Amino acid sequence: MTDWLAALSDAGLADAATALYRAEFGGEPDGVWAAPGRVNLIGEHVDYAGGLSLPIALPHRTAVAVRRRGDGRLRVRSGLAPWDGAVADVAPGNPPGWAAYLAGVVWAMHRDGLLGSDFGVDVAVVSAVPIGAGLSSSAALECALAFAVADLAGLPTDDRGRARLASCCVAAENEIALAPTGGMDQAISLRATAGHALLVDSADDSVAPVPFDLAGRGMALLVIDTRAPHRLVDGQYARRRTSVETAASSLGVSSLRVAADQGVDVAVLDDPELVRRARHVVTEIGRVRQAQILLASGRFREIGPLLTASHVSLRDDFDVSCPELDSAVTAALGAGAHGARMTGGGFGGSAIALVEASDVDRVACEVSSAARSRGLVSPAFLCVDVAGGPATRLR
Ligand code: ADP
Ligand code: MG
Repeated sequence: MTDWLAALSDAGLADAATALYRAEFGGEPDGVWAAPGRVNLIGEHVDYAGGLSLPIALPHRTAVAVRRRGDGRLRVRSGLAPWDGAVADVAPGNPPGWAAYLAGVVWAMHRDGLLGSDFGVDVAVVSAVPIGAGLSSSAALECALAFAVADLAGLPTDDRGRARLASCCVAAENEIALAPTGGMDQAISLRATAGHALLVDSADDSVAPVPFDLAGRGMALLVIDTRAPHRLVDGQYARRRTSVETAASSLGVSSLRVAADQGVDVAVLDDPELVRRARHVVTEIGRVRQAQILLASGRFREIGPLLTASHVSLRDDFDVSCPELDSAVTAALGAGAHGARMTGGGFGGSAIALVEASDVDRVACEVSSAARSRGLVSPAFLCVDVAGGPATRLR
């Protein structure tokens, strides 16, 4: 039995969010907005090196039913613990838990002078994005609310306006939820183009759509949520980040992006571990550029080997894979995928496999049975045949 996670329709999401809103608050919301989770095709662990990544928006989204309040207060509801408070009380670590991702967005928009001091909201959340699977349910949540608030407050929602909202969402995640992430997730969730991947340049926050019409070419992207148990990996992200920064300063460049662009040889570093870390970043940025060129000229299947090379680099040079991710990648390749890799931060989370549409079920079966035979937890699957669009109003 293969476990498929469905993307809900606009109407399904809007109805569910509205029903939760009515049950929790009574009355009707002012509207319902939604923003997508994401999966990164290639360009992993390079955002904090000023690098390039190539994510797509998932068809799986998080919806928020929202009503504006005029007293500067917030009430947020989902399947998790409810939270009520005032915008003025929001601070690093407060509220704790999931509510920080919502309260932090309104806090950041206030701080940036985008909202009047009395602006508050009641919010009900429903999501089709699996939580904590490395598919950015956190950014989907932030971006859905940021877009809703922008719409309710009459703020611009052209690409420049969306970029400003994305930076508020990053601030919410880093400064209130205290998760030290880069800006790729919020960029794709707010600034995606449907049917395209997005080249996100972390050196200057610019984005550019890149064609990614899978269905039109008889292909699909199989997303494998390994459901790997949470490991004690706190601090690993920060350590990788420090290594990348140390490598850049030892090489005398402002970032490893500069090293990649200038063809600097990272093998001159003294410490062999630092060489491996830097080699991952520099070669990964090169792979993103190659993938972008192949996609732009319609040679979709040829990015497969780049995905697989990215996995090998993340596994062997960057040391962020794990048995569940390695099993999924090996099984997908064995079943005929054009390429496969872990995606997201690593140590669990999700993998992707680029496959022929007619092979989706078979590859998923093989990945499941490989997990079973290794005594690993059964994965769940998402099938993407069309890249999703950006945050939008549903009703
Ligand atoms: P990822 O973003 O990869 O899914 P994170 O650990 O960054 O994983 O974010 C997951 C956290 O975001 C959850 O633990 C929860 O606090 C919050 N979150 C995400 N989606 C929802 C949701 N639909 N309802 C409530 N909280 C959510
Ligand atoms: Mg996240």
